[in-house]
Amino acid sequence: MDSSVRVRFAPSPTGPLHIGGARSALFNWLLARKFGGKMIVRIEDTDLERSSRESEENILEALLWLGLDWDEGIKKGGDFGPYRQTERLNTYTEAAQKLIAQGQAYYCYCTEDELEAERQDLLARGELPRYLGKCRSLSAEDRAKLEAKGRKKVIRFRVPENENLVVNDLVRGDVIFESNGIGDYVIVKSDGIPTYNFAVVLDDALMGITHVVRGEEHLSNTPRQLLLYHALNYAPPSFAHVSLILGKDRSKMSKRHGATSIEAYKSQGYLPEAIANFLVLLGWSPVGEEEIFTLDELVEQFSLDRVAKNPAVFDVDKLNWINGQYIRKSPVERLTGMAVPYLKEAGYIKGEITPDLFDWLKMIVTSVQDNLEFVAQITERVGIYFNDRIEMENEEAGAVLKDEDIPQVMAAFRRKVAELAEINPENTKAMLKALTKELKLGGKKVYMPIRVALTGQTHGPELFHIIPVLGRDRIMARLAQTVGE
Ligand code: GLU
Repeated sequence: MDSSVRVRFAPSPTGPLHIGGARSALFNWLLARKFGGKMIVRIEDTDLERSSRESEENILEALLWLGLDWDEGIKKGGDFGPYRQTERLNTYTEAAQKLIAQGQAYYCYCTEDELEAERQDLLARGELPRYLGKCRSLSAEDRAKLEAKGRKKVIRFRVPENENLVVNDLVRGDVIFESNGIGDYVIVKSDGIPTYNFAVVLDDALMGITHVVRGEEHLSNTPRQLLLYHALNYAPPSFAHVSLILGKDRSKMSKRHGATSIEAYKSQGYLPEAIANFLVLLGWSPVGEEEIFTLDELVEQFSLDRVAKNPAVFDVDKLNWINGQYIRKSPVERLTGMAVPYLKEAGYIKGEITPDLFDWLKMIVTSVQDNLEFVAQITERVGIYFNDRIEMENEEAGAVLKDEDIPQVMAAFRRKVAELAEINPENTKAMLKALTKELKLGGKKVYMPIRVALTGQTHGPELFHIIPVLGRDRIMARLAQTVGE
């Protein structure tokens, strides 16, 4: 591979961008960037019923969110447009006519019922269901009769007999298919719209695509595409089919195993760089032990040689772990900005986010940053800062405040809080240390009662974070509630 590499992502806009599609896009993008080649995005919208502009926008937005930009194609333009298949229908029609003229394609007038009867017949005989070529040699007269009856027609490709079709797959090695099992397939439907296998070949060939990297589910389409490359006299590109993505139980990845769309992860507060990092590990393995990579590092390290043939397993716990790593490294401003909508939705904050409020929220986010797997989780962790009515979460918490040392600990704590010039995490840490030293009771007998008295809980963020978030007045008010004056 070199800088003449031209790869593409060719989604069908029939729904949002999914994990599998995003992984294909990422692998293509990494190859384009690694070799200084070109990434092309085009839209395969020939399924008129299911395609929508809304899905197209969703897919493009999700790609950009992941950091996967493109050099040519939809919204960008380029020398090989248009980049939406429904805007290229002339190209497909012309090519189909050429194949018909060459005798490599023909009109077929079979009805659904006839095709179904043939299918059932073959199945009953234990044979592969396929089209047996009834309309292969219709005369002009036969055709005229059928047309006069108002029969709909499709265009089928005439599959040559007894050929071995070899896909030299960069991930799988040589995969051999026999042409005899294929049966003449439809390349243009009765409404004049090309089928996927036909349009994809013309697009890849005419757009100068050098490498087709896509999901394994398309491997069985590839012999059909190779036949069309030969018939149209185009050199096929190199192919790489990346493995299926399975759930942890080894069944096909579905919603049961976790959300499948990229937007679902975005809306839960996953970071795009974490998703991209997770996606690359669905099939590719790094050389060493390290699993956390920026896109720039991946551009350096990625190669198809290290893409596995066997299925990748989607493990949401691993995604959460990776996302947690990225959250830990993210600037608190960014995380706070992301947290605001969740805090609003949970009713913790309302109205305008003033700079003071934002600063206070930053302290809150800092206090839980190390324990978040994704930002939406924040609402489960920060109730202690917003609910001023303190309830003991359980008996264990209540018991902590019954210890005989409590009055002494609380009196000393109140005094120290009152004395603090400025309450920030640093000062608070020093104050707590001094307090423990002064009381000579050991850390646990000081920290746990203060935590419980302030929050009603025996666990939660670090005390040196909780105290500055609450501030002096709310601390005193909470102590009055839980341990009395
Ligand atoms: N539109 C096809 C899909 O979304 C693209 C397949 C291909 O890359 O050739 O699965």
